[in-house]
Amino acid sequence: MAKVTSFEDGRTAVTMAAESEHEPRRFKVYTDKNIDKIEKLDLLDDETVFNMKVVSSVLPFRVNEYMINDVIDWNRVPDDPLYQLTFPQRDMLPPELFDEMAELHRRGADKKEIKAKARELRTRLNPHPAGQVEMNLPEDDEGEVIDGLQHKYRETVLFFPSAGQTCHSYCTFCFRWAQFVGDDEFRIAQDDAAKMQSYLATNKQVSDLLVTGGDPMIMKTRKLREYLEPLTRPGYEHIQTVRIGTKALSFWPYRFVTDKDADDVLALMRELVASGKHVAVMAHYNHPNELDTDIAREAIRRVRETGAEIRSQGPLLRNINDDPEAWTRMWNEQVRLGIIPYYMFVERDTGAKNYFEVPLVRAWEIYREAIQNVSGLGRTARGPSMSAGPGKVEIQGVTEIKGEKVIVLRFIQGRNPDWVQRPFFAKYDPEATWLDQLEPAFGEKEFFFEAEYRQMCEDARTWMQGKKLV
Ligand SMILES: *Cc1c(COP(=O)(O)O)cnc(C)c1O
Ligand code: SF4
Repeated sequence: MAKVTSFEDGRTAVTMAAESEHEPRRFKVYTDKNIDKIEKLDLLDDETVFNMKVVSSVLPFRVNEYMINDVIDWNRVPDDPLYQLTFPQRDMLPPELFDEMAELHRRGADKKEIKAKARELRTRLNPHPAGQVEMNLPEDDEGEVIDGLQHKYRETVLFFPSAGQTCHSYCTFCFRWAQFVGDDEFRIAQDDAAKMQSYLATNKQVSDLLVTGGDPMIMKTRKLREYLEPLTRPGYEHIQTVRIGTKALSFWPYRFVTDKDADDVLALMRELVASGKHVAVMAHYNHPNELDTDIAREAIRRVRETGAEIRSQGPLLRNINDDPEAWTRMWNEQVRLGIIPYYMFVERDTGAKNYFEVPLVRAWEIYREAIQNVSGLGRTARGPSMSAGPGKVEIQGVTEIKGEKVIVLRFIQGRNPDWVQRPFFAKYDPEATWLDQLEPAFGEKEFFFEAEYRQMCEDARTWMQGKKLV
């Protein structure tokens, strides 16, 4: 389809939209319930498939046909990064937990028993890292807690719409996994657009709304519009940025190209931009191979055409992308496609963490080597960053101060904004994989923020008791 643009000086430009090149594709998904129907698994041995079934009865498993047929390179399985990203592997569960569940499968236990066991095992996998549930609950004017919102950093409110609590495929390392397995007590989601909107209207210090999930792009545009369109009206001028966190650009790019309401969702973005908002698609990418298909590139092109920006973020993961070359290639390719590299995260302390974790010092080496090999436009990626209880903490490097080898850290975001951008120092520890394993350098008892953070936790507990939430 040709589109003619006329400029004020009389010039015209004709652009060819590439829609016609892409046929609509039916979304077809596999889970632990129909795992046997995945033909490609015939390429694997029986034991690998058995292990997969055991793990997928505990951790969420869901992969769609586009990922299987167009993105995963089956000649490279089991090492293919996109296979590792979507298909469960034995070592993703600690050995004791794996054995407990494998035993049930071997003796043909019924569904009910497997479910009960799965529930028990999940509680042993730290389903809610970093006090997500306890500490960031906003309340309305009447002191009523609003479900489905999180407000941790002054300027940004997170919104978890209930219809967006799933994804087009699941990442095997997902830190939100507890939301997907259907255990009710783990749920943080809401369906009340009005409550979210009125919270934003009364909190003028908030500049950013971040719609997240799961993946909000799993929702029909009609639903997304209910949430977002009202923000273009008077009363929401302080909301300067609408961010949408999504992996759809990679897991299901058809969402933006050929799905029935693909054009509608782009129209919604265009309207938000026209109303003066900055629209930021916070795109989750883990590996450069995710950018390689024509459809993935077409989706990026179409989103950018609306005036929305795409920023990329994703965790560093052993067995998937713990290689500087992968990050260099990914950031370079993203810059070429008009995406702004934003964050490299450290994998959180939950779920299959042991399988994916990379020591902080090694993470920094990978980051440094990768960033040294991109131009300044790729160096907008910050990290490696831990989303820990007190805030987002970045590993800035390793150095020696007066004979002591130390790790230099800083807050990118803090529960107290005053903590941001103050360097602090931990004892060098090449094995540590998370903030709580680090000790202060120079013989100090604790890090500068710890006493204050402890008080914040205590206050939150008291507040929760007042609300009878504990
Ligand atoms: C990362 C994050 C944000 C956004 O932080 P930015 O640094 O502005 O991208 C907001 N809330 C929570 C809970 C976060 O983890
Ligand atoms: S896209 Fe995000 S929320 Fe969805 S499975 Fe992957 S990590 Fe989890």
